[in-house]
Amino acid sequence: KSVVHKICAGQVILDLSSATKELVENSLDAGATSIEIALKDYGEEWFQVIDNGCGISPNNFKVLALKHHTSKLADFPDLQSLTTFGFRGEALSSLCALGRLTVETRTKNESVAAHLTFDNTGQLVAEHKTARKVGTTVTVKKLFSNLPVRSKEFSRNIRKEYGKLVSLLNAYAIIAKGVRFVCTNMSGKSARSVVLKTQGSGSLKDNIITLFGMSTFTCLEPLSISLPGNCTVEGFVSKSGYGSGRNMGDRQFFYVNGRPVDMPKVGKLVNELYRGANSRQYPIVVLNFIVPIMAYDVNVTPDKRKIFFSDEGSILQFLREALGMIYSASSV
Ligand code: ADP
Ligand code: MG
Repeated sequence: KSVVHKICAGQVILDLSSATKELVENSLDAGATSIEIALKDYGEEWFQVIDNGCGISPNNFKVLALKHHTSKLADFPDLQSLTTFGFRGEALSSLCALGRLTVETRTKNESVAAHLTFDNTGQLVAEHKTARKVGTTVTVKKLFSNLPVRSKEFSRNIRKEYGKLVSLLNAYAIIAKGVRFVCTNMSGKSARSVVLKTQGSGSLKDNIITLFGMSTFTCLEPLSISLPGNCTVEGFVSKSGYGSGRNMGDRQFFYVNGRPVDMPKVGKLVNELYRGANSRQYPIVVLNFIVPIMAYDVNVTPDKRKIFFSDEGSILQFLREALGMIYSASSV
C-alpha cells in the first residue's frame, strides 16, 4: 500500500532540463557507458538521448509508455533499498502527454532494432524494424506543443531552459564514473556543435578537469569530511581567492550518493563562508554526500531533486566548521 501511495501521480516534467534528466537517468539505469544528448534548436524543436545501455525487450514495447509502467520496482522489496534513479514509471508517459515520443531500441538478444511511435496517451501506435547497435534512443519532438500556454512560454525562455539543461548535464557528467557524456546542439541550418564532452573517466577529478580545465582544477581544494550519522561528504571547493564572479549555482553541484540534487541550504552556507573572505566571488562547489539510505528521503518531490536529511541541523553545523577551517586557514 505505501509503495503505491508514494508513487503518487505528479508532474515529473516541468521543463526541458527535467525532461532530459529523466531520459539520462533511464540511460544510467540501463547501464549505459555512453550517453549522447542531441538537441535541435536548443531543444525547442526536438531533443534526443542516445545510449548504449541494455535496450528494451520487445515484450515491454506495448506497455513502455503507459502510466506507472516500470521495470525497476519488482527487483526491490521496498522503496528504501532502491538504488536506481527511476521507479515511478512516469517519465515516458508524461513525455507522451507533452510532446511526440519515439523510441529506437535493441537488446543483445535481438538482431535488429525496433522503431516505436507512441501517441499522447502512451499507446504504441506504430512499430517497424530499423538498424541500431544495442542500446536505446529516445526522441521527443515539440515538447509542450500540446499545452499552448506552456509552449509559448517554452519558446520564449528556450535559452534559459537550455542553460539549465547544460548545467544539469554537467552535474551528471562530473559524478558519473566510466560514463562518456556528449551533448550537441544544432541551431537552424548551422552545423551541429559540441556543447559538452567527457571521456567517461573513472574519477571525479578527471571529470572536473575534462569539463572545466586543468587551470580551474588547480584552484580547487579537495574535501573529505566525516559527518554525524555515518555520513561523509567528499568533493572539491574553490580555494580562497579563486572563485569566480559568476552567478551562484553556475558551477555548484550537490549530490547525495551520486544523485544530483538541489541543496539550497548547503549552497547558501558555502557561499556565505566563502564570501566572508572574498566578497565579490562565488566558489566552485562539487559536494557528494555519502549517506546511509535511511538517512534521507528522495520521494518528497516528483522530480526527486529535493532531499531531506533526517539530521540536517547537525550536518550543516559540521560542514560549517570544516569549511570555516579551510577558508580561514587559506586566507591568512
Ligand atoms: P522508470 O524509470 O521510473 O521505470 P520511465 O517512464 O522513465 O519509468 O521508463 C519506463 C521503463 O522504460 C523503464 O522502467 C525501463 O524499463 C524502460 N526504459 C526507458 N528508457 C530506457 C533506456 N534508455 N534503456 C532501457 N530501458 C529503458
Ligand atoms: Mg525513468
